[in-house]
Amino acid sequence: MKIIVQKFGGTSVSTQQRREMVADKVIDAIKKGYKPVVVVSAIGRKGDPYATDTLLSLIDNEKAYLEKREYDILMSCGEIISCVVMAEVLSKRGLKPRVLTGGQAGIITNDNFGNADILRIDTTKLINYINEGYVPVVAGFQGMTQSGEITTLGRGGSDITGTALGAALKAEFVEIYTDVDGIMTADPRIVDDAHLIETMSYNEVFQFADQGAKVIHPRAVEYAMKVNIPVYIKNTMSNSKGTLITASRESIGRIITGITHMSSRTQISVEYGEENQNVDDVFDILAANKISIDLINVFPNYRVFTVDSKLEENVKKILDELKLKYTVVSNCSKIAVIGNGMRGIPGVMAKILKALKEKNIKVLQTADSHTTIWCLVKEEDTTNAIKALHEAFEL
Ligand code: ADP
Ligand code: MG
Repeated sequence: MKIIVQKFGGTSVSTQQRREMVADKVIDAIKKGYKPVVVVSAIGRKGDPYATDTLLSLIDNEKAYLEKREYDILMSCGEIISCVVMAEVLSKRGLKPRVLTGGQAGIITNDNFGNADILRIDTTKLINYINEGYVPVVAGFQGMTQSGEITTLGRGGSDITGTALGAALKAEFVEIYTDVDGIMTADPRIVDDAHLIETMSYNEVFQFADQGAKVIHPRAVEYAMKVNIPVYIKNTMSNSKGTLITASRESIGRIITGITHMSSRTQISVEYGEENQNVDDVFDILAANKISIDLINVFPNYRVFTVDSKLEENVKKILDELKLKYTVVSNCSKIAVIGNGMRGIPGVMAKILKALKEKNIKVLQTADSHTTIWCLVKEEDTTNAIKALHEAFEL
């Protein structure tokens, strides 16, 4: 039985016309001999009536009067509504849909409400429905604990539902349908002439996703990578080939694959003063407070790192308590230049710095790994920096 999983994002199911296009994709797959399992996100994006953010705005978001468990019940509604609406379209087109919540589809998670991890997936029910000729339509982004509590998987979690189900069902492949033709060399909303990357390795996509490109959730990539299942990122609204993600590295010959960024970063430099006994403990203390830091550089006279801007006040408080001297640069953006091909190739960093300098963009900090080079810039320089690098590497 050739099962595939087709996941459709919020914009793909946002209008009647688009839902018909979704039905086209499902029917096409059936015609090709596949047994599709459909996964959907909530209808639309922020501001649309049944989007998750809109549902959340019905209750106070400043102060949490409710426990996280209750939020998850509200947040799970968007996908449930979307499933039924989508199922009706499929039914009108002559298919036999079967709507399932995450829990009903057998997705068992831990009880980390709001950001639950999948513990296992019991596919018995799904397989039975498929054998009976149904097209399962599964609510993305949600699961259920062993004891029957509804949980959600975190923002972008429908992608996780897609690849985790694909892995559990031993699907031939997983298709993630969205509103762009696939993974592009940069966010097409930032760079007009960004172009489609036809093949990528799991690793590269993971880096891309983890460093801010929200086209697929990084954890979704991990699920696919674990069982080596091919993933396509495709456009619901076009017939583009999309991006094929596999383990193999077709990227040979290409130094840089693409550019992404993460905004709302704050850079903090902590000085080593004569009396600063506490400086050696800083990283330990931040870790104990569950504050994740990155772009860490240690110098003889100071240490520098960045944090999510949301944590800036928290970090300052901790440093004040330790009586440390420090400086803060708020509103930064971390640009990530990604590519498997840069391993061992000299001069990539130099080229990046030159391209940014030519555009008068100040680089606050850099870091690099085998496959990624990061540059910290001021947030207002983000667009120009990405455009400059895109041009410099002739992406
Ligand atoms: P969905 O609702 O379908 O899950 P998302 O908004 O989560 O869609 O992801 C798709 C969006 O990701 C695109 O509209 C695009 O603006 C953004 N994006 C960011 N970086 C990239 C990239 N490198 N390639 C393609 N899309 C990207
Ligand atoms: Mg998404």
